Amino acid sequence: MPNDTRIALVTGANKGIGLEIARQIAQAGVHVIIGARNSDRGKAAVANLASQGLAVQSVLIDLNDHASITGAAQTIRAEHGRLDILINNAGIVDPQDGPPTQGAPAAARRIVDTNFVGTLAVTQAMLPLLRQAPNARIVNLSSALGSLAVMGDPTSPYYSARLIGYNASKAAVNMLTVQLAAELQGTGIIVNSVAPGYVKTDLTGHNGFMTAEEGARLPVQYALSGEETGRFVEPAGGLPW
Ligand code: NAP
Repeated sequence: MPNDTRIALVTGANKGIGLEIARQIAQAGVHVIIGARNSDRGKAAVANLASQGLAVQSVLIDLNDHASITGAAQTIRAEHGRLDILINNAGIVDPQDGPPTQGAPAAARRIVDTNFVGTLAVTQAMLPLLRQAPNARIVNLSSALGSLAVMGDPTSPYYSARLIGYNASKAAVNMLTVQLAAELQGTGIIVNSVAPGYVKTDLTGHNGFMTAEEGARLPVQYALSGEETGRFVEPAGGLPW
């Protein structure tokens, strides 16, 4: 691999939007590391993309297992010495989640632990590697449901999508984006929150308006180009926090 080939890690890339992000970034000539919490599922995704001639490998990374996160960072350091692109894609919903009056607190804890605390832990573990890259980028997969402004707007089509655990987890991811982008000003590392749209995946029970391939497009765009940092965007444009 040429020395200037960009290296990307996509968490939760064995299926859904993450797999399509991995495919599209690899098609752009980036060497992609598929993060998966199950090594067989990671290997299956590698076989899928490699059969299309794409440069990919997998690494075990479970957002709920700190040792796997630090282990993945060590593997990437040993094999590549840096990371150009981090896509924090892995995320969950929970059947016990629901509106604030009913959603199980234990479900909210599980969701926030994975979607926010896990994303924070991965980001911190990868930052030393991102600092080794000339123009590193972090893309955090967020959601319009994580927008306080959208959730408080009775005219919004999302207004009644009340999932207190999930929505709070994405609002917290947005806080990570805002504060990290500010903290990293001047380092060249760009950080954005991208809401992919309503995408047909396992997470949505295959409801939605977009295919995973379509849902991957905006995260891929922010992973590969653009100079803006600390923004929250969806396919239609900017989103209010
Ligand atoms: P998905 O098809 O359910 O895929 C989720 C991925 O995350 C899977 O690879 C899953 O691995 C992985 N994952 C879950 N928990 C993990 C953990 N603890 N450690 C590591 N990996 C873990 O969901 P998706 O729709 O593609 O969602 C991808 C991202 O987009 C999520 O952050 C989601 O919140 C966000 N998003 C989706 C939509 C939508 O409409 N689909 C809208 C807005 C935002 P396993 O296969 O092992 O379970």
